[in-house]
Amino acid sequence: MYDENNIFAKILRKEIPCKPIYEDDKVFFFNDINPQAKIHILAIPKMSVTDYNDFISKADNEMIKYFFDKINEIAKKHGLLDSGFRLVTNNGRDANQEVPHFHIHILGGENLKGIK
Ligand code: 5GP
Repeated sequence: MYDENNIFAKILRKEIPCKPIYEDDKVFFFNDINPQAKIHILAIPKMSVTDYNDFISKADNEMIKYFFDKINEIAKKHGLLDSGFRLVTNNGRDANQEVPHFHIHILGGENLKGIK
């Protein structure tokens, strides 16, 4: 069940500050507080979904396409399409998912060898 008090829900409600990158009525992108690479952006849909499984089960096709297109657009704006980048999502316990609001990590800006 979705926890309305998870950190990203609080960030979406502007109860906790963050460094925003992009926001509209469907999605929010912001910098990770503990970046693992020169560029480490978190992409979240504005839906009450806990993880990838929850998102892909509940989001309609239009939303799924919109979310991933926007990730590509943000990657492009940061110059990552040429240099390369990594998308990561941790789903559940064995993946050590820390925040139970579905998010995708966008990592890049440097060679990612040795970076998970
Ligand atoms: P997960 O392990 O759930 O895939 O990743 C959670 C991510 O959220 C981590 O990379 C962590 O650094 C980031 N994070 C945790 N708390 C905050 C916060 O309060 N603000 C921001 N911007 N990122 C956070």
